[in-house]
Amino acid sequence: MPSLSEETNGRIETLMPGATIGIIGGGQLGRMMALSARYHGFRIGVLDPTPDCPVAQVADFQVTADYDDKAAIRELAERSDVLTYEFENVDADAIDEVRGSVAVPQGTDLLRVTQDRVFEKRFINDHGTQTALWRQVDDLDGLDNAIKEIGYPAVLKTRRGGYDGHGQVVVRGPEDLAKVHERDRLGTFPPSVLEGFVDFAFEASILISGNGKDFVTFPIVRNEHRHNILHLTIAPAQVSDGIAEEAKALALRLAKGFQLAGTLAIELFITKDGRVVVNELAPRPHNSGHYTIEACSIDQFDAHIRGIAGWPLPQPKLLGPAVMANVLGQHVSSTRKLIAVHPEWYVHDYGKAEVRQDRKMGHITVLTDDTQRTVDELEATGCWDDLRQ
Ligand code: AMP
Repeated sequence: MPSLSEETNGRIETLMPGATIGIIGGGQLGRMMALSARYHGFRIGVLDPTPDCPVAQVADFQVTADYDDKAAIRELAERSDVLTYEFENVDADAIDEVRGSVAVPQGTDLLRVTQDRVFEKRFINDHGTQTALWRQVDDLDGLDNAIKEIGYPAVLKTRRGGYDGHGQVVVRGPEDLAKVHERDRLGTFPPSVLEGFVDFAFEASILISGNGKDFVTFPIVRNEHRHNILHLTIAPAQVSDGIAEEAKALALRLAKGFQLAGTLAIELFITKDGRVVVNELAPRPHNSGHYTIEACSIDQFDAHIRGIAGWPLPQPKLLGPAVMANVLGQHVSSTRKLIAVHPEWYVHDYGKAEVRQDRKMGHITVLTDDTQRTVDELEATGCWDDLRQ
C-alpha cells in the first residue's frame, strides 16, 4: 500500500488567475470543472482521445490522445501549470514522471489508493471507518476460504477497474459460487475482493473538499440507482443528526489522511440499524454532487478548483433542498421536451456527440421545498420509464 509522503502531498502552491489547469479526461466532470475554472480566470487544457469532447468545447486547447499516452501526458504537463483528472483510472506512474514540470496538488497516492479496492478498504479501515466485511481474494481457493469467513450473500469485485457494478458478481449461495468457479476454471481469476452484502436501508454519499490543509464538507445526500447507475440524488438525505455527524466525521478523517486537495466523494451505505458504512471512494467531483451547482453556496467543482489552486475554501451551505436526475442516452429525446415545460428546472447537457444507451448525457436539477413531491413529478413525466429489463 502506498505510504503518504510529505513529498507527494501538502505542497500546494497558490495558483493565480491566468494560470493553466490541465485536465486528464474530457467528459462531463472535467467539463464542469473547466466551467468553474473559467469563471475563476484560469485557462484550461484537456487530454482526451475524442476530438471536440465535452471539455474541449469549453477549453483553450486539447491534446488529442489516449489517457495513457505518456508523450501526450508530457505535452499536457508542459503546457499547464497544474494537472488534475476527472476519473481515477489514470496512470499514476506517468503523472509522477511529469511532476518536475507541473504541479500535481492532489498527489498520486490518492490515485493509487482509490484505484485498488484492497488499498482503499485498508486505508478506510485504518482511518477508523467501517466498510463491509472484506477479504482479499487472489484465486479460487482464496474465494472459497473468504466465503467461509464472510458467509452468504457476498459480493465479489475486481480489485481494479470496476465501476457502476462492472466487474461484480453477487454470490448468493453455493450455486453462484459454482458459477464463478466455472467462469474462471481456465485460470483467469482476476485479483479481487469479497465483501459481505450490506443490507442497507439506502445509499448515500458525502463530498469533502480540501486545499491540502483545510477541509469543508457538503451535506449528506441520498442516492437512488437503477441498473447500478445513479438515477436520482436527493439533497439533503433525511437522516438523524447522528448519521449526518458520523458521515461528516468520517469524511474529515479520510480527507486528513489523504491531505486532500480538491474534491473527494465518499459513497455510503446507511444500514437499517443506523450505521454509516463506506462503499467506495472517488478522488474527484462526483455525479451525486451535481446538485451543488444550483443548490449550494459553493459547488463541488468550484471547491475542487479552489482546492487544487491552494485557495482557502468557504464552508458550503445548502441553500435549499434539491433533486437531481441523470439523463442517460435513452432519456435524451424525452427530457429535451422538459426544457419548454419546466423553465424552472435546471437542464444540463454535456455536449456529447454520440448518444448511447446508459451513457451519461446530462442531468436535471430541481430546487424544491418538497423532495418527495419533486421525485414524483419527475417520474410522472415518464421520461425515465426505462423499457429495458
Ligand atoms: P460499486 O461499483 O462498488 O459502487 O457497486 C455498485 C452497486 O452495487 C452499489 O451502488 C450497491 O447498490 C451495490 N453494492 C456494491 N457493494 C455492495 C455490498 N457490499 N452490499 C450490498 N450492495 C452492494
